[in-house]
Amino acid sequence: MNLITRAEWHAKKPSANYTRLSSTRGVKIHYTGGRVQDDLPASGNHDHCAELVRAIQRMHMSGGRGETYIDLGYNMVACPHREIFMGRGPHVLPAANGAGLNSGHYAVLALIGSSGFTEPNDDLLNGLVDAIEYLREHGDAGHEVKGHRDGYDTSCPGDPLYRWVRQGAERP
Ligand SMILES: [Zn+2]
Ligand SMILES: [Zn+2]
Repeated sequence: MNLITRAEWHAKKPSANYTRLSSTRGVKIHYTGGRVQDDLPASGNHDHCAELVRAIQRMHMSGGRGETYIDLGYNMVACPHREIFMGRGPHVLPAANGAGLNSGHYAVLALIGSSGFTEPNDDLLNGLVDAIEYLREHGDAGHEVKGHRDGYDTSCPGDPLYRWVRQGAERP
């Protein structure tokens, strides 16, 4: 799997200590929402993925979600080039699934929006499965794969990706 370390994507350090998780029931899948450029999956555009991840981290840490997060809210991020950005990583409580729902599932973000780039390509889906398998192996994630909208009132992770989740989140 093509893992991009936090140093490699120039992540900011967390502003406080993480809360440790010993295990979870599984993983919840998220999308960015909003507009993601249509041609993000083009082979020359991976630099834009890193910019997007840094922008989301800045937004989360500056209170863009209503409260100030100590770090990017997600455990891992998958992009349409089958690269995986390390977020909070395994065995860490995410801040993405909704109040009371973060200890049950790790949170994995797909770099796909609600307009522009909205239909997941094969490299994105394979990257999501890579991240899920990584969290099972290194973070004691259980077998469940769900969407953010399971248990929380949101459109996330968007209909196309949620359909894939409901169909078993399998490799294409
Ligand atoms: Zn979400
Ligand atoms: Zn990429």
